[in-house]
Amino acid sequence: MAGNLAGLAGLSAAVLDRAPAVFDLPRAIHFDAHIMRILQQVGLAREMLPAVRVWKRSTFYGVDAKPIRVHDWPSDRPYGWDAHYLFYQPMLETVLRSALGRFPHVDPRLGVEAVAVEQFDDHVSVTIRDVLSGEPRQLDARYLIGADGAASFVRASTGIRLLDGDFDEPWLVVDLRCAREIGRPNESEMFCDPARPATRVPGPGNHHRWEFMLLPGETPEDMQRPESIRALLAPWVSMEETEIIRASVYRFHSLIARSWRCGRVFLAGDAAHQTPPFLGQGLCHGMRDVQNLVGKLAAVRAGGPTEQLLDGYEAERRPHVERIIDMAVAAGREICILDPVEAKERDTRLRRAAISGDLPRTTFQGMPPLTGGLFEATPGAGELFPQPYVLDGHGRLRMFDDALPPRVVVVALGAAVPEIRATTDRLWVPIVAVDDPAIDPAIDPPNSPTRTLRTQDEAVGDWFDQHGARFAVLRPDRYVHGTTGSADEAMAMIRAACGYFPHTD
Ligand SMILES: Cc1cc2nc3c(=O)[nH]c(=O)nc-3n(C[C@H](O)[C@H](O)[C@H](O)COP(=O)(O)OP(=O)(O)OC[C@H]3O[C@@H](n4cnc5c(N)ncnc54)[C@H](O)[C@@H]3O)c2cc1C
Repeated sequence: MAGNLAGLAGLSAAVLDRAPAVFDLPRAIHFDAHIMRILQQVGLAREMLPAVRVWKRSTFYGVDAKPIRVHDWPSDRPYGWDAHYLFYQPMLETVLRSALGRFPHVDPRLGVEAVAVEQFDDHVSVTIRDVLSGEPRQLDARYLIGADGAASFVRASTGIRLLDGDFDEPWLVVDLRCAREIGRPNESEMFCDPARPATRVPGPGNHHRWEFMLLPGETPEDMQRPESIRALLAPWVSMEETEIIRASVYRFHSLIARSWRCGRVFLAGDAAHQTPPFLGQGLCHGMRDVQNLVGKLAAVRAGGPTEQLLDGYEAERRPHVERIIDMAVAAGREICILDPVEAKERDTRLRRAAISGDLPRTTFQGMPPLTGGLFEATPGAGELFPQPYVLDGHGRLRMFDDALPPRVVVVALGAAVPEIRATTDRLWVPIVAVDDPAIDPAIDPPNSPTRTLRTQDEAVGDWFDQHGARFAVLRPDRYVHGTTGSADEAMAMIRAACGYFPHTD
């Protein structure tokens, strides 16, 4: 993903992987609407769509095997995509990797291993070694992103330590292909049974995932044996019609690197943080990391303030990741309860907390906003802006991100558009007007360098009401830089955002 984002931003990059091919076993099985939006940004969402299953519901069962909590993902699509998708990780990686070929300035090098990193005032030098021939080479670049996984060599080479988040539980992960329907609901299930906490997630097509917690005294070697796996799966599937793709024990733990930047070297993805997968967010974190970081590297190249931008990466991403890891650990602690009395108490508590209906239900707790970093201290700043459909200058209805260039934009309540025109025209900042029927569609003065797009999406109008704003200034990554009701403040915010994220065209 980092390579694709760099390619799109016109940055030259080498993408190194010591593996000669995509790792053919899935780990991640879920990503959310924001990740689909990032795939859209790099032009790959439509390619992924046929390969995913929309995930609509997750049910948690208690000690009595009856539901204690139901997450129903909302069916509205504020970000332009369904809230959650189930996918096959090797497929996603194949799509991303093949897409690198679009960019002549991106150089994917497979089967090469980074073995040394040295930093200088104006560049970083990486020694790479061909895995087959052993031949070493030197590669120089202005920046290095260490997205090299949990055992990151880049992290080790910088001396950055991992901080332990005090959660560490071994689980057996079993991926299957089942020849026919298995007679369970087409939704994910968490069996919070103290005798053996387990989860089941139906992937796309005939792919299924089961996860079983190891109990005290059980070893990975014992649990990975075919007879142990068969015994665990026996209540669910007939092994005659099932192919086991993989069964391995993973430690579900929470770790975060003490720092994500060391000079010109950055950590991203599992190299920077690892989360227990109870919310299915590890890979999502990595995608958000590189979207944030590559956006900032592009802004540096375009003349933005280097140090503020580069430090902004960790300032923005770290609190977000920490918060979601905390949520995942809390979810994990509830699922992993082994004491029957405590488990029954949990069931009672969750049932009491349920909102309404015959089944206890809760809605999914959405992703928290970004808090630190390059945002104004205003309502809504740091939130991912919704993705409505907009009418472009040719009267075509298009998704917001497809219709707008990757630069700062301002969304304004229709009547307020003329008040900021002087600044948007001078800085070539596109405007999206939240439609007001009282406003003449011929809103653009003849000499205006940009065309005002229009949206009538009620959710966007509600978003403005909720934040008491008339203007929202958005960054190229579609996070809200700041909101205000005052045109003067809006123009100051536009100038500030364009200062951080200049555009060169
Ligand atoms: C059981 C399980 C379930 C999960 N479920 C989900 C889920 O549903 N949703 C979700 O979002 N996340 C989930 N995750 C987490 C997700 O799989 C990881 O967060 C994600 O794969 C990490 O991606 P990465 O690119 O950071 O690291 P990796 O996928 O580990 O990739 C690192 C790459 O770096 C390469 N490399 C390493 N060292 C070097 C070197 N020295 N030189 C060159 N190349 C090198 C490796 O070959 C590898 O290709 C799950 C994880 C597990 C274990």
